[in-house]
Amino acid sequence: MKFQALRTIRGRLAVSYVALLSVTLLVFVAGASLLFWMLLTHQVYRSAIENVENTEGLLAFTPEGTLYLREDYHDTPQDRLVQERLLEVRDLNSGAVLYRNKKLGDRTLGGAPFPGEGTDYSRRRYRLSDGTRVLLVSHVHGLDGRQLVTRLALGEAPMFSRLKQFMAVLLLAIPLALAIVGITAFRVAARTLAPLDAMIGRAERITPKKLDERLPVVNPSDELGRLAVVINTLLQRIETSFNQLQRFTSDVSHELRTPLAVLRNVGEVGLQRPKAPSQYEEIIGSMLEEVNRLTRLVESLLTIARMDAGQVSLRSIELDVATLLRNCVGLLEVLAQEKGQNLSLEAAEGLLVKSDEVMLRQALLNILHNAIKYTQEGGAIEVRARGAEPNAVEITIADDGPGIPAEGRARIFERFYRAFADQTGSGLGLPIAKWIVEAHGGQLVCGASASGGCCFTIRLPLVQAGVAPPARVAVFDAH
Ligand code: ADP
Repeated sequence: MKFQALRTIRGRLAVSYVALLSVTLLVFVAGASLLFWMLLTHQVYRSAIENVENTEGLLAFTPEGTLYLREDYHDTPQDRLVQERLLEVRDLNSGAVLYRNKKLGDRTLGGAPFPGEGTDYSRRRYRLSDGTRVLLVSHVHGLDGRQLVTRLALGEAPMFSRLKQFMAVLLLAIPLALAIVGITAFRVAARTLAPLDAMIGRAERITPKKLDERLPVVNPSDELGRLAVVINTLLQRIETSFNQLQRFTSDVSHELRTPLAVLRNVGEVGLQRPKAPSQYEEIIGSMLEEVNRLTRLVESLLTIARMDAGQVSLRSIELDVATLLRNCVGLLEVLAQEKGQNLSLEAAEGLLVKSDEVMLRQALLNILHNAIKYTQEGGAIEVRARGAEPNAVEITIADDGPGIPAEGRARIFERFYRAFADQTGSGLGLPIAKWIVEAHGGQLVCGASASGGCCFTIRLPLVQAGVAPPARVAVFDAH
């Protein structure tokens, strides 16, 4: 069975703190008890050594040669503190027991000399024959020409009971400390995580219809605040793309409706009454024209959809800009010639860009085709390419057509935007061109040409700056 409290972060935090503190306190109690035991042992050994010193001063032989302890043995204040004092004095040479106190009775504090036992005080833990554990101090000294070894032992039992008391006090304090820490940790975690509850509450209200809702940001500099800010930015992006998608969908339906309506009208008129074959040819011709428009529109929409979905991958190779421009101009020169326009190209040789040839050509053709389409008959279109700082190539396509007013230029790259109401284009050519140029790490801007027409400038990163002396500038003229 899982505990309810462990399902929440605050519960898990509180439990973790309590668990951590329990371990820490137990380690502390163990360490403190060990230290306490060591201090106690040290103290008892010192007390035993003092006792041995006193005892040695009070030992004396009767005229018959019996060793006894003078009466004033118990008079020192330390003596009264020591309850379990066991005393044994032996002759060092013969090993014979010369004295044992009453507490020791018929037990013994060891037989033959212990290793290290001598004129220095030696200490050891010892277990008596009845199992009693004691701390034993022994010392060798001379009395009336004989070498005596005095052994004095103090029982460990009182030390154990003091250690138990000490540990009991510490262990009793642990549950109290744990309760205080547990409750405090739970409250602090609950207060810290309160903004998260507010965020959850608000997030539950965000639906596709209420995408303008945002999460509350209590403290923008802490982790939760930063999370809320990041999620809000994400929501902003989702809202923007959602709105864009909605606008795009309605624009697309609008764009498709017009040619379809034209097709239907032309068809209906064609069927109204019998006509001469030449009239049918005309009707079918205009229907095909609309179908062609529809096809181009659908192709552009597909391109845009693929670009939006990130499905367009660039197959970049090193391209010579002048060659590419010559190619584009060559493709459209017939259209310019039909309108009696002067289409000229001046491109510095040796400018290399890394790009997808098909895509970049499509972008250039879209812009160039517009220039030819929107410039009046007999107009001039200039295509130029030159190296530009820093390490870029600048391609300009300028015409002396009607141009685009400044407010129109600001929106020229929006999808379905046309600068003038009566135009037949789809309004998708420039957005596609801009996407392609930017996908190549470049920029596409629309300005005004010196003659008041349009001037589109494309800047692309240069792979290699070619030397472009004027003599080597390629000049192409459609006339
Ligand atoms: P389309 O040409 O199919 O309408 P575009 O996205 O290529 O779509 O162009 C958008 C609009 O920009 C055109 O409808 C036109 O109004 C304007 N435009 C583009 N190029 C030129 C130009 N060279 N001269 C004048 N207007 C232009």
